[in-house]
Amino acid sequence: MSIEDIGDHHDKAMWHLKEAHHLLGGLLPVVPPIGEGQLPAPPETITLPNENQLSAFYGSPGKSATWQKSNLTRFNFPVNDIRLYTRTGAHLRDTTGDDLDDHRCHVKVAASLEAALKEVLLTLGKPEFYRQGWHLYSGCWNYRYKRGGSSLSTHAWGIAVDINSEENPFHQRSTTFSDAAIDVMERHGWLSGGRAWGKDWMHFQRAIPFITGGSYYSTNGLPDHIEKY
Ligand SMILES: [Zn+2]
Repeated sequence: MSIEDIGDHHDKAMWHLKEAHHLLGGLLPVVPPIGEGQLPAPPETITLPNENQLSAFYGSPGKSATWQKSNLTRFNFPVNDIRLYTRTGAHLRDTTGDDLDDHRCHVKVAASLEAALKEVLLTLGKPEFYRQGWHLYSGCWNYRYKRGGSSLSTHAWGIAVDINSEENPFHQRSTTFSDAAIDVMERHGWLSGGRAWGKDWMHFQRAIPFITGGSYYSTNGLPDHIEKY
């Protein structure tokens, strides 16, 4: 069952539950439907390394075939028409014919990335998810150095994801993403580049970023559930 089917299945399940409730004379509680903005219980404390602790926490970065095989896994977007970079770009889904989306991240972050994107979809609703461009995938694992820097990017470990980088490009200070959606990413441990340094809103990483003065995190601190490694 895809996430897009959940609404239908949920409605059917709710109907059956209401019937059962009626038949049993009100003995069963009726579960409230999934509503926009209604979130499941917050995750437990999430421990994250800072950017100097990435190898200690996630292991050394790499790019060899052997490294890729033991450190990367595929993750799925919650919609089936993910596009690369642009709204008119090529479909990415299942380019290898194995029925899995052809994009990869570190094995230790795949489940949280899938969960975060699903919850963004449930929180925003489908039209708003598409309007903000959460289906526009701009890359995850990429063994490269930081732009203009000599240290490796968090992408080299496969623990950072870029979403809709065409409309939230490098160095841009505004974003298409709503606070509610960014909050959801954070709940799953995906901290926002935009909130850390006031630009590059396409970037989310599962590590504590360097924080620039005047940024959102500088003013508000990191979310309470994020614990330093
Ligand atoms: Zn990035």
